[in-house]
Amino acid sequence: MQLPREVLVGKSVIPSVGETLTRLGFKGPALVVTGHKVILIAGDTVIDSLKRAGLNSSTIIVESATTEEVSRVESEIRQIKPDIVIGVGGGKDIDVAKLSSMKSGTRFLSVPTAASHDGIASPVVSMKGLDRPYSYVTHSPIAIIADTSIIAKSPYRLIASGCGDVVAKYTAVRDWKLAHRIKNEYYGDYAAELALMSSRVVIKNANDIRRVSDPGVSTLVEALISCGVAMSIAGTSRPCSGAEHLFSHALSMIAPKPALHGEQCGVGTIMCAYLHGANWQLIREVLHRIGAPTTAKELNVDPGYVVEALTKAHSMRPERYTILGERGLTKEAAQRLASVTGVID
Ligand SMILES: [Zn+2]
Repeated sequence: MQLPREVLVGKSVIPSVGETLTRLGFKGPALVVTGHKVILIAGDTVIDSLKRAGLNSSTIIVESATTEEVSRVESEIRQIKPDIVIGVGGGKDIDVAKLSSMKSGTRFLSVPTAASHDGIASPVVSMKGLDRPYSYVTHSPIAIIADTSIIAKSPYRLIASGCGDVVAKYTAVRDWKLAHRIKNEYYGDYAAELALMSSRVVIKNANDIRRVSDPGVSTLVEALISCGVAMSIAGTSRPCSGAEHLFSHALSMIAPKPALHGEQCGVGTIMCAYLHGANWQLIREVLHRIGAPTTAKELNVDPGYVVEALTKAHSMRPERYTILGERGLTKEAAQRLASVTGVID
């Protein structure tokens, strides 16, 4: 079980990155992995704080979350041999930092500037160009420093997407339990409860999140971090990723212009909750209140792609048993599901 040793969530916590690292015993050098826009918003503050703490650092700017970028950062790591890699930015920068540091056996610190999915704190990575379309487990950040004043200023769409990824645990845990009963798969109650609690807390605080109030943003960030911890405890993404995620992965492969991961997972949760006989109306109502998509139209994806993704979701990851079963949904069943839940007209 790998858990973060320090988690800071709050306003203006970024200047304490350097101090946190020295407290954790790091002596530098550090490699800051960030993007060309986010360096102005947060990267420079991180670099300053490293300097003040007496830690040498270098910076590498990444353009996209691709395996080429991971290789480029990895060779930089092998060259300068940092004792810590710091990912500063949205999902892309964090994912590249996480995977390249894991491949080179270096520890990693996460400084998220957006809260669009649970990858900010999890040991899980997903990106194009890997040998599989879904995410897989790497290593957990040694610490997470999440500045809510910066996250609150990110586009609201990212915050709503983060809510979709958290609400998804409502069905992910049901799928995990099902796989335990039917396939005798390992199931951990504590990790499952932690993931479920995150979804409950986001549902309960939907209005605060919609207002982008301080407590609302903190709640979402803490929920995303707890999801990451749930995966670390379970040693698998199971507590956080079920059929609703398989649907999202399938949609990302099929649709020419997919929506955001969390947005698609949210819509997937509505439909999978229906299949589980759970309260899908609650999920839809909460996502609607948050301002996250609940329909194909709001995802800006053709209804035909949604239906196709539903029929293909089970084949994304055949070893992951879910409510979709081993053979998946027929086109007719998929159409009915999407229309009964109001996802398509
Ligand atoms: Zn997710």
